[in-house]
Amino acid sequence: MVYVNSAAEVLFGYSVDELLGKETRLLYADEGEYSEQGRKRYNAASKLATETYRVAYRRAGGERFLGLTTAAAMRAKTGSVVGFTGIIRPARSADNSLETLQKVHTITSDLILSDSHKIESLLRLGLRHFGLEVAILSRVVGNDYIVEHCVDCWNQLKPGERFEVSGTCCEYTLDARQTVSFCCVGKGRMRRHPCYQSMEIGSYIGSPVWVSGERYGTLNFSGHLPTEPFSRDDVILMGLLSDTVSYFLYRQIFEEEILALASTDELTGLPNRRATWERLSDLMEISNRSGFALTVLSIDVDYFKNINDQWGHAVGDMALGAFARIAVGLGRKTDFCGRVGGEEFLFVFPGATLEDGWEFGDQLRRELRVTPVDPVKGEPFTLSVSVGIARYECGESLESLLARVDAALYRAKQGGRDRICQ
Ligand code: GH3
Ligand code: MG
Ligand code: MG
Repeated sequence: MVYVNSAAEVLFGYSVDELLGKETRLLYADEGEYSEQGRKRYNAASKLATETYRVAYRRAGGERFLGLTTAAAMRAKTGSVVGFTGIIRPARSADNSLETLQKVHTITSDLILSDSHKIESLLRLGLRHFGLEVAILSRVVGNDYIVEHCVDCWNQLKPGERFEVSGTCCEYTLDARQTVSFCCVGKGRMRRHPCYQSMEIGSYIGSPVWVSGERYGTLNFSGHLPTEPFSRDDVILMGLLSDTVSYFLYRQIFEEEILALASTDELTGLPNRRATWERLSDLMEISNRSGFALTVLSIDVDYFKNINDQWGHAVGDMALGAFARIAVGLGRKTDFCGRVGGEEFLFVFPGATLEDGWEFGDQLRRELRVTPVDPVKGEPFTLSVSVGIARYECGESLESLLARVDAALYRAKQGGRDRICQ
């Protein structure tokens, strides 16, 4: 072998360096087949023209597979044979389908692989099964086709790349709402389609992906060269792959939602107490390492019980929501505010000194005075807050910082409320 491309590395499992200089004997599953092919076509006297045939090959790990091979002799100007080229793609057969199914099972039942890795493994498996070069899991939003996961033998495509749906073969898959395949794009009705003309896609199989009853995108496999026609087994397998991927996507989305719910306060949309303390602890650690200032404010709404008593619980809830919007609106992007109790909030200012925190507290009190809450059935009222303020001291524990800032808040309450204390 004097030249092999990177797709050969993927197909055979050897590196280019391991193949160069070796006899092609290495690639064959059977010694007899190797001799037979040598006798029949790979010799200077052979009169065979370019042909496509099936032969059993062997991967580096010992696994056999059927290869669809298109071979031709290379001739010098004088007509004498100087070498041979072969394009090898995995051929598909019913045996392969069963084997692929078993591998789908192995991937999905793996207890260690993350869902994201499982999706990627399924893409690789599909590529091998269909003998194609590019596997994509896409997210489709309107006419935007966004590559979410991909395996590309040519290393050209990256996750995050965007195309117009109407420029991709997936346009047909989405329209058909079922598995669609083309094996010789250059010959059929797809000849004039942009996916053939600009992306040079010669063969394609893809399925829509649905998550929780909504269209998510597509799972598809494609290659530059035309392939054998896709069989009924292939179409069934394609549907199975896309259903399996849908399931992992659903799980991912579900887990993210659960995680967000577990760290968010439902009423105000702010981080809840647990999430606030977690983020504060992270910032304390960064402050320990980098030495930047960190100031926290403990804020408690004054006489909040009276609001509930006078206007009812629903208006109380509304007032808490209004307070959260005002507080967040005044902060910078890097600051954050969490709801740590009923009408108690913790504001964290990375990079801020006590004076900065104090200034914010004053600003918040001013803003509350000019932003009335409208109970709808009654006179609008304003909120006032008591604020405790403390600056994080390097090496201090979370408990100590919270105790200091709460003691400051207690002083503000004792001092008559509607004030800031440190
Ligand atoms: P202080 O100035 O001392 O803080 O007085 P306060 O009335 O604000 O404090 P207290 O701790 O006596 O009462 C807090 C009230 O906040 C009591 C509780 O019913 C109310 N509260 C706590 N969580 C919620 C909530 O989610 N919604 C509503 N509407 N009220 C809440
Ligand atoms: Mg209160
Ligand atoms: Mg309170």
